[in-house]
Amino acid sequence: MSAAPDLSHIRNWIFDLDNTLYSASVSFFDQIDRKMTEFISRYLALNPTEARMIQKDYLAEYGTSLSGLMAVHGMDPAEFLEYVHDVDLSLLAPEPKLRQKIQALPGRKFIYTNGSKGHARNVAQHLNLFDLFDGSFGIEDGDYIPKPKRSPYIKFCDVFDIDPNTAIFFEDGVRNLEVPKHMGMATVLVTSDADWSHEPEITRPASTATQAHYVDFVTDNLSNWLPLYS
Ligand SMILES: [Mg+2]
Repeated sequence: MSAAPDLSHIRNWIFDLDNTLYSASVSFFDQIDRKMTEFISRYLALNPTEARMIQKDYLAEYGTSLSGLMAVHGMDPAEFLEYVHDVDLSLLAPEPKLRQKIQALPGRKFIYTNGSKGHARNVAQHLNLFDLFDGSFGIEDGDYIPKPKRSPYIKFCDVFDIDPNTAIFFEDGVRNLEVPKHMGMATVLVTSDADWSHEPEITRPASTATQAHYVDFVTDNLSNWLPLYS
């Protein structure tokens, strides 16, 4: 866990979106989380407590709640994604320092999210970051197979012609860094002090206490951690 990591081989900078390009401490993602519960409650005719349980069980087992709903109930993803990503962006504030640092990174920059591609665009545009990226990869691009499963990372690298040995992956979900590390990428876990104790342990975003052998670096502040290239 060096304070000044050697990133001289990095040519591809890959960022998760939610709770990574903005801090988990702003509670923006809570809205999406609640809308998922509402949707599942309606779709499966369950009360909110039951719907919440299914939502978190599927998240833990299938990688995302959506994947579980598709696998178990044959649900069409389009309506779900539109509903859960229709959220108030005003909680998120652009961070000029983060923009400056991402802009100056040497090489290509990507967003890779388990949300929809439209969500990546909406959020990154609101954060005044979207134009800095060379591409974004949403859940639909991975054929609705989410991180942390291996196949969508392979597809992501194929689509953008990325050599994993020249890439670094930033994520708040620790389990989503295991495959990138095994593929040869450097990995950065973005933590926060937000309270995630209501989440199943396996899917809980990282806290500062999180440790895993496939995590190279840990930071609780992405824009501070990124070097400023000139
Ligand atoms: Mg995330």
